[in-house]
Amino acid sequence: MTLKDRVAIVTGASSGIGRGIALALAREGAHVAVADIQEAPKKGIYHDTDLTTSTVEEIEKRGGKGIFVQTDVSDDESVRNLIERTVSEFGKLDILINNAGITIPGGIEETTIADYDTVMGVNLRALYVASKLAMPHLKKPSGRIIHIASVQSFGGGGGPAYAASKAGVVNLTRDTALELAPFGATVNAICPGYIETPIQDYLTPQDIEDCKVKTPLPRLGLPSDIGNAAVFFASDAASWITGTALPVDGGWMASIF
Ligand code: NAP
Repeated sequence: MTLKDRVAIVTGASSGIGRGIALALAREGAHVAVADIQEAPKKGIYHDTDLTTSTVEEIEKRGGKGIFVQTDVSDDESVRNLIERTVSEFGKLDILINNAGITIPGGIEETTIADYDTVMGVNLRALYVASKLAMPHLKKPSGRIIHIASVQSFGGGGGPAYAASKAGVVNLTRDTALELAPFGATVNAICPGYIETPIQDYLTPQDIEDCKVKTPLPRLGLPSDIGNAAVFFASDAASWITGTALPVDGGWMASIF
């Protein structure tokens, strides 16, 4: 177990990638605070169509320890409560995984200014706020911040706010890495390609087929693929890696750059 008794927060962990990350960390012995708006997992149209158990139930089935903390990452007081609850329950915090993210489909003309602010609030501002409030606990060699960005950090196509927010996450990662480096703590981003989660509900079956064709390794990604990368960044094995943005995308970006 590479993360035995480390304490982690994973935002957006009731569903999708966050759930996959929470289960992977718990498998490695971490105690996990599952932070999300609601505890029930989201059922997608294409993926996770029949999920019924909560992430905490799945952690406990595997012999791990987890708590659910109702959290809206776009509400600063809610994030403050998340960190306080986690530290009071488990006695410390080692790993902050900023995973919660949203997309509102449409280009500049179709989306509203309010849509832009909403997406930026959840996908970028909230990562700064959570990092700021967690930072006093993370100034130590086991301290980790892991942001979930996207392959769309590096190119257009995800919509104005999504693309801008995810590009911002990569540079926020670098800047925060410099700030935490003197303490031996690390900050990295994971950039998923197409992962099978309910966030894809807005796509058409043809869009999904196109994503498969564009992915050199011949399958779409799973939340566990991102979970495994998160375990690596959180572990001591990655203690000299900071400020990076790792694509976990089945080779998608290799075909572009
Ligand atoms: P998902 O299936 O929609 O799951 C996201 C989870 O975050 C949901 O449980 C959602 O809750 C929660 N959430 C949304 N807004 C929140 C808020 N304000 N506060 C707390 N929790 C909130 O999405 P996903 O595919 O797992 O995406 C996770 C991350 O990976 C996102 O940052 C996304 O941009 C990124 N990503 C995903 C892919 C992909 O192909 N899936 C690719 C690249 C990057 P509700 O259901 O209640 O809204």
